[in-house]
Amino acid sequence: MLDLVLRGGQVVTPQRVAEMDVAVLGEKIVAVTEPGVLDAEAARTIDASGRIVVPGGIEPHAHIATPVPQLWTGRPGVETQSPEAASRAAAFGGTTMLIDFARPLYGATPLEAVEQRVQRFSGHSYIDFAFHCVFNGVSPPEHIAQIGELISSGVASMKVWTITRPGDPPNPATDDGHLWAVMDQVARHNGIVAVHGEDEAIVEFMTDKLKREGRDQAYNIHLAHNNLSEDITFRKTVRMAQRTGAGVYFVHVTAKEGVEAIVKGRADGLPIYGEVLHHFLCFTSEDYKKPEGNLYHTNPGLKFTEDRDALWEGFTGGAISTVATDEYTTPKAPKLAGTTIETIQGGHNGIETRLMIAYSEGVAKGRVSLQRFVELTSSNAARVMGMYPQKGIIAVGSDADIVLIDPSVHKTIALSDLHADSDYSIWEGTEVQGWPVTTILRGSVIVEDGKLLGNPQQGRFVKRKIASNVLTKPAC
Ligand SMILES: [Zn+2]
Repeated sequence: MLDLVLRGGQVVTPQRVAEMDVAVLGEKIVAVTEPGVLDAEAARTIDASGRIVVPGGIEPHAHIATPVPQLWTGRPGVETQSPEAASRAAAFGGTTMLIDFARPLYGATPLEAVEQRVQRFSGHSYIDFAFHCVFNGVSPPEHIAQIGELISSGVASMKVWTITRPGDPPNPATDDGHLWAVMDQVARHNGIVAVHGEDEAIVEFMTDKLKREGRDQAYNIHLAHNNLSEDITFRKTVRMAQRTGAGVYFVHVTAKEGVEAIVKGRADGLPIYGEVLHHFLCFTSEDYKKPEGNLYHTNPGLKFTEDRDALWEGFTGGAISTVATDEYTTPKAPKLAGTTIETIQGGHNGIETRLMIAYSEGVAKGRVSLQRFVELTSSNAARVMGMYPQKGIIAVGSDADIVLIDPSVHKTIALSDLHADSDYSIWEGTEVQGWPVTTILRGSVIVEDGKLLGNPQQGRFVKRKIASNVLTKPAC
């Protein structure tokens, strides 16, 4: 007997979008058929008619339960929201897996850092999870030597920052030499490098200049963390990828120059992938000037209308592979505390809204197909980060991570619709069409009709392995 059958929904697969039935046994999808063909009995049947059936969303960029620098908040002890809260919000938003970060701190090795994060999340997450391992600053050779073991143990992605984030604990920039060393090891062992690409010297120079000129207000953040900085860092990183053979995933692309560098690298056949944040598609640096404009900020920062247009072009046309959030949820007060370009807090309270905004702005407004929507919100992250086809696809043998979207919902987002551990959302007041109404994690219904049915013991650590075609050329 089957455990679950979804009948009559519009099922989105890489081959087609059509009315199909999906059968689940245990944690796996066991059949995707024409309607009415399945005659096995099922413990539960869900009528999915009128719903769009997609693979569970995958959030590739989240910072959960991480200390927020006092430099930003003006107070000690602020942490981003807990795994329970973030994964609960994610589940309501149609996301069934997230990738957070493991950072070696206080003498821990990279392998120990991953273990610490697995412990922190196990028993505390409603959805599945994994971690990018952080190599920032001057990583000692014995840390870099662990990259092979990290990858073989299922941690397929390393994260670097090419710019210092001041504060406590400090987040020093990875210099070119160490970026090269990390890329070299990643290439040897078939992993990928996730790069936060900014040019430290340009940003420092502009920060000093804006301070000198009395123009260092928070709303000028994009003049310090600017287009030129992204331009030269992305191009240099692409060149290093070419020299080392490493795959690169650029997190939060902000500028048209960033998109251009990705297009160029991919045209040269390199395995270069770009990520856009959903609020970078909908806001610009003009929004910083609104009352409470800090709320719109995530590093490196919103740019200009032409940059937003370039991000949309990448979103619709293929240069951008994924949509993420840079989830970093705090209450509103610390988010608003910083008043200068050096103290404005980055990060976005957004893990819940990612799918609904991508659907509403993308599919409902006719910019992308349902299949492209699925690529951007789920399957490309699964491919680039090494969970495919276990995750990111509705197919026989894959995990039954499935989301039902009701395309008939028209709604103005209210704070009461959302489930993050926070007292604001920049999406409050946004009109959307379409809403994720049912979320299924490995065969188990965890959210249905606005009710949380899952529990935080259900989320599991996912081991990842990137397919070779993803690392030899742009595969998605
Ligand atoms: Zn981030």
